[in-house]
Amino acid sequence: MNRKRDLLKSLKIFENRLVVVVGAGVSGLAACRYLLSLGATVRLVDAKADLSQDVLLKVTENPAAADLTLETGPHTPAQFNDAHLVVLSPGVPVKKLAGVLAGVAPWRVVAEMEFASWFLDEPVIAITGTNGKTTTTTLVGHILKHAGLTPFLGGNIGTPLCDYLMGDSPADVLVIEISSFQLQNCRTFAPRVAALLNFSANHLDYHLDMEEYLSAKLNLFARQDHGSTAVIPQAMRAELAARNFTRARVDAFTADTDFDCPGLPGAHNRENIAAAWRMVRPFGVSEAQARAAIQAFHALPHRIEPVGEVAGVLFVNDSKATTLDSVAAAVKSFERPVRLLLGGVFKGGVVEDILPALKGRVVSVGLFGASREVFEPALRAHFPVAWDQTLEAAVRRQFSQARPGEMILLSPATASFDAYSGYAERGRDFARVAKALSGETAPEVAT
Ligand code: ADP
Repeated sequence: MNRKRDLLKSLKIFENRLVVVVGAGVSGLAACRYLLSLGATVRLVDAKADLSQDVLLKVTENPAAADLTLETGPHTPAQFNDAHLVVLSPGVPVKKLAGVLAGVAPWRVVAEMEFASWFLDEPVIAITGTNGKTTTTTLVGHILKHAGLTPFLGGNIGTPLCDYLMGDSPADVLVIEISSFQLQNCRTFAPRVAALLNFSANHLDYHLDMEEYLSAKLNLFARQDHGSTAVIPQAMRAELAARNFTRARVDAFTADTDFDCPGLPGAHNRENIAAAWRMVRPFGVSEAQARAAIQAFHALPHRIEPVGEVAGVLFVNDSKATTLDSVAAAVKSFERPVRLLLGGVFKGGVVEDILPALKGRVVSVGLFGASREVFEPALRAHFPVAWDQTLEAAVRRQFSQARPGEMILLSPATASFDAYSGYAERGRDFARVAKALSGETAPEVAT
């Protein structure tokens, strides 16, 4: 029995109303399923012109009979004008739709997360920040589970919230990763615990400036009440307080934590751990329970993940590092001299800002693929820099120069779409080359 879900269903507020869902990804399709279950008429629109109508089979077994249509190709105002509600998939920035949404009242346009939250009785922990969201969301879920609670992990990772709403496995707490795109279209969402992990340059290719990006992030705290908790970095406390950012109780963290987690290296992960502890504390988790859970946790794939050692050279896959800050964090996480691989679609920021973290640790830089013009001028005065077209060529070049005891770190500071379908494919390619090198290289003979 779930009071909000049952009540909203019984009120039939979506019955025979047209809802336009933008984006036919996993979350968009889940939103379609849930809306159909509420009796809505659903128009799914996706800018990809080559999307097959078969995608509707993922929503319903019988698309022809259902109140569901798919329109593909460039969006038009006509797709939206008669909409009762527009639900945006997580990866869809509302700005890109500004022209076609001109005829729709802004309050009718909501993020998928906002829409789903209307139907939730369960308390929510919502996590945002420039870096570390997935790692910390997973860690929070892990601690809660260890403490005997039943968490649901969702949002950008795992199951979409709308699928959770349709399921019959109720959770005690929902742990949700939320991006700035989605936060721009949240209007009522008010999590019991909201966390901002950190804040630095990202998505400046999309956001007007840092102020717009920060305002989007702070929207997470805007409607919290006195019984809620806001977890923020101590370093941002004064700045955020001056902006009157929340009514919630503020619990600030630093990297200074005595929880031990051998599987999560680096000072940045100590911050993630300290933040996670502050998020689970309001749910009655004891320090001893948290300590045991954190001790057993491991880094997720493609996030500072060692993938092999060849002739004494360690290969570390940090393909998920798409911002400069995460590159600095990765470089600082190891004692070994670093041969750093950078390249791909740069999303903004000032490369010189990470020079202090790189100096004294990085011995050479291997650039690959796109954005050579961004990295080379900023780095060539400080390190030997070479460029190759492909990641494989860059790895091989760095390996040919490496000495035992060093590491080759793929922490590219970019999105991967110039050459790969995503960061995971890029990370797998790196691991493949490392493995190939281990087959080609005679193991070191112990003396
Ligand atoms: P997100 O979901 O925000 O992209 P992930 O947990 O997937 O975050 O990690 C993305 C990248 O950010 C990885 O390279 C990881 O090592 C790095 N990272 C994780 N936490 C932090 C942090 N607190 N500060 C800087 N970089 C971080």
